[in-house]
Amino acid sequence: MTTVQTILNLKGGDVATGDPSLTVGQICARLAEQRIGAIVMTDEQRHVIGIISERDVVRVIAQHGAEVMAEPAGRFMTRTVVTCTRRDTIDELMDMMTRGRFRHVPVVDGGRLVGIVSIGDVVKHRMADIEREAEEIRNYIATA
Ligand code: AMP
Repeated sequence: MTTVQTILNLKGGDVATGDPSLTVGQICARLAEQRIGAIVMTDEQRHVIGIISERDVVRVIAQHGAEVMAEPAGRFMTRTVVTCTRRDTIDELMDMMTRGRFRHVPVVDGGRLVGIVSIGDVVKHRMADIEREAEEIRNYIATA
């Protein structure tokens, strides 16, 4: 079973992070430039203190109008962030994402941010697992 560590070995530990004082407009610019869906908010020690995703941006603009673009993103970020460890499995991540209805899970080690897994990573690796399992069954049948 694929673990978070396997995913990070392939994609690396880079995470788009930001400070809660960044404006919503600056968050939008980063999401667009880096073609990603969320920014993890961290303190100086790389502790996770929040997350803001494209969904939050859409919601606050719908609620308050375009003036929020100049407001600090920290006002609108999610503060209770569900995180995982390198040892968690793909199934556990799928469970977290399904229950919590979010598509990003930051990876922490010793309380510090070391990576992120998105729903895209989960789908890609789950499909590879399914392919591998199917190949094993085909080989088993062929040699039985
Ligand atoms: P997403 O599906 O990642 O765009 O996020 C949907 C909503 O869940 C947004 O309000 C995010 O701030 C929030 N969110 C995203 N990831 C997490 C997470 N790992 N833990 C808690 N909330 C999250």
